[in-house]
Amino acid sequence: MIYADVIVNITAHALDRPFQYRIPEALRDKLEVGSVVTVPFGNGNRPVTGYVIGLSDQPALEPERIKELSEAVLDASDEEKRLTGLAVWIRDRYGSTMLQALHTVLPVKRKVQAQEKKVLVLKLPEDAARQELELMRRKHLEARVRVLEALIEEQSLPWEIVTEKLHVTPAVLNAMAKKGCIRIERTRVYRKPPLPEALAHGAVSLNEQQQAIVDSICGRWEEDLCGRYLIQGVTGSGKTEVYMELIAHAVSRSEQAIVLIPEIALTYQTLMRFYHRFGDRVSVIHSRMSEGERFDQFERAKNGDIDVMIGPRSALFTPFPHLGIIVIDEEHEESYRSGQSPRYHAREVAFQRGRMENAKVVLGSATPSLEASWAGRRGELTIFKLNQRARAVSLPEVSIADLRTEPRDSTTTLLSRPLRERMEDCLGKGDQMMLFLNRRGYAGFVTCRSCGHVIKCPHCDVSLTLHASGRLACHYCGYETPMPDRCPECGSIYLRTFRAGTEQVEEEVTRLFPQARVLRMDRDTTTAKDAQLKILSAFASHEADILIGTQMIVKGHDFPDVTLVGILLADLSLNIPDYRAAERTFQLLTQAAGRAGRSSKSGCVLIQTYAPDHYAVQCAARQDYEEFYRQEMAFRSMALYPPAGSLVAIHCSCADRQHLETAAQYLRLFLEKILKRTGAAILGPADENVAKINDIWRMVLYLRSGSEELLREARRRLERYIEANEGFSSVEIQFDINQ
Ligand code: ADP
Ligand code: ZN
Ligand code: ZN
Repeated sequence: MIYADVIVNITAHALDRPFQYRIPEALRDKLEVGSVVTVPFGNGNRPVTGYVIGLSDQPALEPERIKELSEAVLDASDEEKRLTGLAVWIRDRYGSTMLQALHTVLPVKRKVQAQEKKVLVLKLPEDAARQELELMRRKHLEARVRVLEALIEEQSLPWEIVTEKLHVTPAVLNAMAKKGCIRIERTRVYRKPPLPEALAHGAVSLNEQQQAIVDSICGRWEEDLCGRYLIQGVTGSGKTEVYMELIAHAVSRSEQAIVLIPEIALTYQTLMRFYHRFGDRVSVIHSRMSEGERFDQFERAKNGDIDVMIGPRSALFTPFPHLGIIVIDEEHEESYRSGQSPRYHAREVAFQRGRMENAKVVLGSATPSLEASWAGRRGELTIFKLNQRARAVSLPEVSIADLRTEPRDSTTTLLSRPLRERMEDCLGKGDQMMLFLNRRGYAGFVTCRSCGHVIKCPHCDVSLTLHASGRLACHYCGYETPMPDRCPECGSIYLRTFRAGTEQVEEEVTRLFPQARVLRMDRDTTTAKDAQLKILSAFASHEADILIGTQMIVKGHDFPDVTLVGILLADLSLNIPDYRAAERTFQLLTQAAGRAGRSSKSGCVLIQTYAPDHYAVQCAARQDYEEFYRQEMAFRSMALYPPAGSLVAIHCSCADRQHLETAAQYLRLFLEKILKRTGAAILGPADENVAKINDIWRMVLYLRSGSEELLREARRRLERYIEANEGFSSVEIQFDINQ
């Protein structure tokens, strides 16, 4: 190969394309895709760094006009080269700039500080430690109580786990060390902490169903090098045990593993299970770590110091030398989709990385995404089911309260009569309850209180949103209509918009049940560090009878004495202007329902809704995933929404409203031209859900088609069109596929 396509490391949209350079003789066999090079750039031939993203023997222009690259960093590791290859794929699939894609997969290089590992060791003998613990309890020094409890159990713990997961500040730890309770050991070598014997081999023996999954995957490890699997099983059915067994198998073959977990579920308990099984060969990254700290963890992975990396989305790019398996737990979670360019989805990128590096991908969920199930139905991945809870617990009894039959003039609007009865009952028995309000749907959609009708866009089948102007608007296509006086279905005058928040719920609860002790958990009450943990532990230790909250409260946490879960307005997520509204609702309701009756006490769940017949509500109440999938997939197929079809969003933003509108119209005209007679639909431009942020206006266009390839090609042509026209230079344009 004589020529290299090089992306230069300069942040300017116009430069985000490969430039071709001649490879000097001496480097001809040495350069690879992913190599880092120095090239002369621009008129002054100033030296800049670049990444090789392609090699060829064909010149793109007259050979004498092609400059020669000057230097190459030949020690780019294999891991970096492979990740650069992944960035090329990401750039092409999601339409970001190449630099954005590279910065996503390769962490910013930082001067690595002398790597030091701190381990906390219990210094006091156990009796003395227990006495100290009692003393701290009496003094209500909660942080010290947590440290002592954990250390009495474990003898020693990594510093990060204590500071990050037990939320103890360095100041407290230093004070405890000074007092002689604990010792802080600093080492540069990652020594194996002395785990208690029984825990170090903490594997449970798998039940038949679990073992069958492990056998089936491990039995064909070599044959299905990049096998894809989905483990469908409710929380508590033993998925994590299966993941750990698969990872142990990979590790025994000197392969490494990445485990993706939604940040919110990355709890101390989960971490400790991995830690017990794999000792200090496990590392964690999360969003509160600095870039330098994350970089360190990636270095450890590259150097072979660890076998397992656990973390949210970005852990996917851990540079392991022989990646064997990627696990994505709770694969349906929205947090696996990146909110900024490149707007990638971790599931898709994991599949691609698995294909490129011969690694298996294992997804797990109680309510798999439509994408995963659809891939299973098409034979692109193997579905396994775990349909018993590993520890026998009965499923809660779920019922639905029809809000349309509530008195319309009542001042009590958030708690229906059936719910109030159950609350009384629950409080009477001294049990606990959770009241859950999904605030995601805060945007004001309009519904009729008599018949439950929701006013929808005639073109998009998503709910319209009431604006301050008094008009209803569609955020997909821009359709607008005046707010009607009466329900178009039944003529009732009782139309209302939902703007209920958790505070209103708290007010109503304290008014109706003045004797009950109430805790509220939402974004407002959890801004302070540790606030979330404090609320949850207060509730766990029965300092309150009722926990009111947003979706934060439905994930992960186990409260054995909760026997009632009230879902106040299932409609809030059902009517968000998003084609995934039903799927989100089904997932949330199923998850919330799973909160009740975690112990021997039987639980009950009440779903309040204006749409009691909606299949998402019905299927969630019956915990019937298959039926939900059937109905939802029928809708997606008919409307050509993903995964049956493909949807590309083109997000445009600009400080000048007029200019933005003109630019968006030009995009539409261009798209109409290139998509003529392809059957693809062009929707918009319309204002984004939030039309202006920080004085920057935002609009969006959507393309919808049965063919993903068609839309990808359209996007490529659109990118070239945008690049070639000055008029777009002040408009920021981002693409989003199947968002
Ligand atoms: P999931 O990941 O599906 O939520 P877990 O793997 O966390 O399920 O299992 C739930 C609980 O059941 C855990 O406490 C786990 O230790 C326990 N468990 C799982 N499998 C078994 C088993 N085969 N024998 C005994 N306990 C098990
Ligand atoms: Zn009506
Ligand atoms: Zn519309």
